[in-house]
Amino acid sequence: MSGSLPAETDNHRPTNFIRQIIDADLAAGKYKTTHTRFPPEPNGYLHIGHAKSICLNFGLAQDYQGKCNLRFDDTNPAKEDIEYVESIKEDVRWLGFEWDGEICYSSDYFDRLYEYAIELIEKGLAYVDELSADEIREYRGTLTQPGKNSPYRDRSIDENLILFKQMKEGKFAEGKACLRAKIDMASPFIVMRDPVLYRIKFAEHHQTGNKWCIYPMYDFTHCISDAIENITHSLCTLEFQDNRRLYDWVLDNITIEARPHQYEFSRLNLEYAITSKRKLTLLVTEKIVDGWNDPRMPTVSGLRRRGYTPASIREFCHRIGVTKQENTVEMSTLEFCIREDLNENAPRAMAVLDPIKVVIENFSETIDEVLSMPNHPNRPELGNREVTFTREIYIDRADFREEANKNYKRLVLGKEVRLRNAYVIRADRVEKDAEGNIQTIYCTYDPATLNKNPEDGRKVKGVIHWVSAKFAKPAEIRLYDRLFNTPNPGSADDFLSTINPNSLLIKKGFVEPSLQYAEVGKAFQFEREGYFCLDSKYASDDNLVFNRTVGLRDSWNDA
Ligand code: ATP
Ligand code: MG
Repeated sequence: MSGSLPAETDNHRPTNFIRQIIDADLAAGKYKTTHTRFPPEPNGYLHIGHAKSICLNFGLAQDYQGKCNLRFDDTNPAKEDIEYVESIKEDVRWLGFEWDGEICYSSDYFDRLYEYAIELIEKGLAYVDELSADEIREYRGTLTQPGKNSPYRDRSIDENLILFKQMKEGKFAEGKACLRAKIDMASPFIVMRDPVLYRIKFAEHHQTGNKWCIYPMYDFTHCISDAIENITHSLCTLEFQDNRRLYDWVLDNITIEARPHQYEFSRLNLEYAITSKRKLTLLVTEKIVDGWNDPRMPTVSGLRRRGYTPASIREFCHRIGVTKQENTVEMSTLEFCIREDLNENAPRAMAVLDPIKVVIENFSETIDEVLSMPNHPNRPELGNREVTFTREIYIDRADFREEANKNYKRLVLGKEVRLRNAYVIRADRVEKDAEGNIQTIYCTYDPATLNKNPEDGRKVKGVIHWVSAKFAKPAEIRLYDRLFNTPNPGSADDFLSTINPNSLLIKKGFVEPSLQYAEVGKAFQFEREGYFCLDSKYASDDNLVFNRTVGLRDSWNDA
């Protein structure tokens, strides 16, 4: 129609360079179908960066009617744990994706990897080195200086076969020998300077137990695992760009049918957040946060507990796109996505976070009034709920002032305000304690103003929320701020020094009685306060605990 539609749109899904590669491969008949994989190492919980990779890999499989495997890249038994395996499965499913077939483990291929290592040795392309780790580093050279050959580099094939077998049989101590590829110590790519393929580790593995004391390195394992699983497009982040040469070298030099290719995209960096598993682990072990699923953590489980929905995270990943450009995404982009979702879908309710009592002196002392309120202002199909109006209510302390100018559109002594979905009240007098703190506000209500304007035409501009003092339920309400004081905590020398000490504020407030039936995973908009959900860790039948997922878009501006 307009001709200005981006040429790249296909079913509202912007293309990206990876889709273009897949399209070209399919058109050229290089592959019949596309097969991706998501390959986490089970050494931590998934974070928002992983969500980007999950949405990319599983999303491609969905769109191209291909397949996506979940593969645990588990070659380092020392850091890995079954707890992480379980959490990763849960998080992938929660995000709305399902892997093809059985779960894969790199460790499933240890026998075959060993055979391929033998093949490389037999071809004169790998050798057992007995330099120490420090010596290997020293011999490797630098970006500006070529490396030099290990004195063990020219061992005979037979000797290498015997020594590698001895490594496998536990005849060498840890660090005393390793298997290296024989490539080129002068390569401009340091990864190609005789990379280590196998190292010795006397550690029990969560999948293979004590069967192995030699473990293959990532670069050797990953490409072969991809080929074994018939992966077509192996997508990883840009720091593996150089490793692609080694990926190709290994596959070019072993006997294996499938030929996957690696493509790199830029990793997600999020402002005020950390996406290094090592650093996230430190936050947990140092007890700076309340576990991996602390609502301040940028982990998938933290976001879930905070009240993010899978759809909002998928939308976020969709919006940030997939490129080769390194950048840092603002937290507001993530928050925008959850607000948009919850504004549309979260039922409304009322909660008072910092309560102060209001007595409506001309309201009945004995008879309460049941009011019906819409659960959503724009979606009548979400129905109504009943909220009881009583002589004593709570409002938020911030919604009352003894004196204020015209910009303050809440309750002021001697003036009127509307109570949300109820009546107009006027503040007549206050009662203070010995320190001068207001204890109670005494008001009168106008019975003719239930959801309508005063009959005499006077204007009441402000609207505030309230709960019945008689029926409201006490609740703990947790307000979160950013976990770090600096936008890029990852670049700080000591990232722990950038922790925001005020990232959690706990309020003791009251919520309307309908919220005692709130369920974990179901969001509410607390009128004028933001979006909230029941906390999955601390809430119980007799202890309501809510997390603020995110504030309202313009809450800072809320007069
Ligand atoms: P580690 O530091 O332990 O290697 P990692 O972040 O690389 O951590 P993996 O478990 O190896 O974690 O990652 C699984 C997949 O998720 C990889 O393909 C990786 O490229 C991708 N991934 C990890 N972090 C990000 C990120 N910030 N943005 C996009 N993709 C990511
Ligand atoms: Mg990794």
